[in-house]
Amino acid sequence: MAILMKTDPEVAGAILRETQRQAEKLNLITSENFVSEAVLEAQGSILTNKYAEGYPGKRYYGGCKFADTVETLAIERCKQLFDAEHVNVQPHSGTQANMAVYFSALQPGDTILGMNLSHGGHLSHGSPANFSGRFYHVVPYGVDRETETIDFNEVEALAKKHRPKLIVAGASAYPRVIDFEKFRMVADLVGAMVVADIAHIAGLVATGLHPSPVKISEFVTSTTHKTLRGPRGGFVMCRKEFAKMLDSCVFPGMQGGPLMHVIAAKAVAFKEALSGEFKDYQSQVVKNARTMADELSSQGFRLVSGGTDNHMVLADLTDKRITGKDAQEILDRAGIVVNKNGIPFDMRGPQITSGIRIGTPAVTTRGMKEGEMKIIARLISEVLMHIDNEKRLQEIGEEVKALCEKFPLYSERLR
Ligand SMILES: *Cc1c(COP(=O)(O)O)cnc(C)c1O
Repeated sequence: MAILMKTDPEVAGAILRETQRQAEKLNLITSENFVSEAVLEAQGSILTNKYAEGYPGKRYYGGCKFADTVETLAIERCKQLFDAEHVNVQPHSGTQANMAVYFSALQPGDTILGMNLSHGGHLSHGSPANFSGRFYHVVPYGVDRETETIDFNEVEALAKKHRPKLIVAGASAYPRVIDFEKFRMVADLVGAMVVADIAHIAGLVATGLHPSPVKISEFVTSTTHKTLRGPRGGFVMCRKEFAKMLDSCVFPGMQGGPLMHVIAAKAVAFKEALSGEFKDYQSQVVKNARTMADELSSQGFRLVSGGTDNHMVLADLTDKRITGKDAQEILDRAGIVVNKNGIPFDMRGPQITSGIRIGTPAVTTRGMKEGEMKIIARLISEVLMHIDNEKRLQEIGEEVKALCEKFPLYSERLR
């Protein structure tokens, strides 16, 4: 960063301090991860200079030979990773990936069935605040009050009543395995299509730890930056019959030129994800989440659905007499970064909430294992028991910093 430091010390300084923050704090944000130096290098490359509207071999600009090489590598590796028939790696984000599918499958005003945002769904699954809720007629489904798992009786009843054209299967805050087969069965009862949104669990699906929706869904969307540990971005997989439609809905339908530097970084991340090491990493992510859940339970936390099958734990703070918002702020002061999160049937609004979401992908990338998860769970509990004890919070902050120092991150960038 020597050059940037000289030409723009304000931006360079902020990046340096952010690098420090990432290294010194415990990142338990479920949707975040730490990419490799190889991914960073590709994303920071001169490919950002290149306009490559169109697709490999069919571009609207000259000079796309190497852009074609890069995008073809990304596509082929992604196909191999998920055993997909067709892949589009151009969507700029997960929301854009969903937009591309809606544009391919629906007309404005058509009905979609999507998971309720307040039960763990995503904005782009039909929230009124999002384009998806404004362009389409959205019928939300949720989880069962008792089990806090997806209520398939409700999904089926709603599908029969509203006859959606598309069912969106996927979530942002759901700690259990998603049964894509059941969504398929319901969709077939009413002649609907299925889009499986695996933004969160892509790494688990790619390594076979969670069931893959690829063979049984018309469309699958994802981000590349969550468990998959690639650059910030999205992609779509679909059956061959939808390939042409999907590609034209991405470009020229909703985007202009692709971000070729990001697509290069996606190609690198897909290669990393094909390795045996990545499978070990994903297994450790799940083991770590399970340990975190067990330890938090024994510290007296009530967990949504009673535990976890994936990379996240949702803790209900109702009987701890603290809101999600306050817990997030106090934990951050001790160097533990989580996000406040609504729990199913939350009595509080989305800005306050009664829960926190705790994820293991990022700390697992640092090399932390079950032993560290037990320590972190204990620290979280300690912080929330001592919210007014400034001295204790400071001590815990020191413990967090010492733990992070044992698992260095981007140390070359901090020299
Ligand atoms: C994160 C997420 C997205 C969208 O991601 P962005 O890249 O932030 O647009 C879409 N769907 C689900 C289920 C997600 O969790």
